[in-house]
Amino acid sequence: MDRLDLHLHTTYSDGSQPPAEVLAMAHKVHVSALAITDHDTVDGLPEAITAGTDLGIEVIPGVEISSRLADTELHVLGYFLDWKDPVLLSRLASLRASRHRRNPRIVEKLNELGLGITYEEVKALAGTDSVGRPHIARVLMEKGYVKSAKEAFDRYLAQGARAYVPRELPDPPEAIAWIREARGIPVLAHPVWLKASAAGLQGLCATLQGHGLRGVEVHYSTHNPQQTSEYLNIARQLDLLITGGSDYHGITKPGIEVGVGRGGLKVPSALLEPLRKAAATQ
Ligand code: AMP
Ligand code: ZN
Ligand code: FE
Ligand code: FE
Repeated sequence: MDRLDLHLHTTYSDGSQPPAEVLAMAHKVHVSALAITDHDTVDGLPEAITAGTDLGIEVIPGVEISSRLADTELHVLGYFLDWKDPVLLSRLASLRASRHRRNPRIVEKLNELGLGITYEEVKALAGTDSVGRPHIARVLMEKGYVKSAKEAFDRYLAQGARAYVPRELPDPPEAIAWIREARGIPVLAHPVWLKASAAGLQGLCATLQGHGLRGVEVHYSTHNPQQTSEYLNIARQLDLLITGGSDYHGITKPGIEVGVGRGGLKVPSALLEPLRKAAATQ
C-alpha cells in the first residue's frame, strides 16, 4: 500500500533527524515518493536523493517559505523546483539571514525573563544556517527550562507569547512568485493554521490563485476528516492541485510520524502525477 509524504523537515532546517533517517522511516511505512520541504533551504536535497536512490524512494525537490498575511503567517510549499537556480538560492539565503536578525532578539528576551541561554548555543545545536524557533525550544528543553517544545512555544515562543519577535517575511504573492520563478509548483501549506471559515479560505485561495498558487495541502497530520473534506472541496471548486504530508519534525512535534502523521494520515500515491504534470507544463 503505497503512500506519499510531501511535507518533511530534516536537520537542514528545524527537523531533528537527518535526511537519511527520514528516508529510512519513510521506507518502513511504504512511502513511494516524498518531498523534503525544509524551511528556507534546499541544502538537504543531495543527501535525501542519495538515500532515496538506495531505498527506491523518489525524492521530489521541495521547500517551505513562510509569508506574512496581516498579523498571521501563511506558509507556501514549493515542489519540483529548479533547486540549483541561483536566484532562488539567493532569495532563500536572504530569508535565512532574516532568521539571524530575529533569533538573537528572542534570546535577549528570554535572558530578560531569567532563562540563561545564548544564541551561540542555539546555532551549535541547530548545526544549520536555517535556524528556527524549534531550535531555541530544544535548547530550553536541554537546559531544563521547559519540559517540551509545546511548553516552550506556549510560554515563550508562540506569537503573542513573552519572548516572541516577528521575522521580516515576504507577502504571500511574493513567496508564490519566488517558487514560480524557480519553475516550481506553489501550494498553500496546512490551511488549518489560517483558522479561516470555509468561505474565507476559498476566497483567499482564489485570490492567491490569481497570483500563481497551484495547489492546497488537503491531507495533513492535524486535519480532521471534516476539515480534509472542506479543503478537498475548495481545491476541486477552484481546480487547484491536491497535496498532502505529515510536516514531520521529529522531537519538536512528538506524535507526528513520517508518512502516517498521527496515525490516520494517508496521502494517495495518485496525487503525484498531476503535480508532476503541472510542473512539466508550466
Ligand atoms: P520559525 O520558522 O523560526 O518562525 O519557527 C516556526 C516553526 O516552529 C514552524 O514552522 C513550526 O515548525 C514550529 N512551531 C510552531 N508552533 C509550534 C509549536 N507549538 N510546537 C512546536 N513547533 C512549533
Ligand atoms: Zn518547522
Ligand atoms: Fe509550515
Ligand atoms: Fe512544515
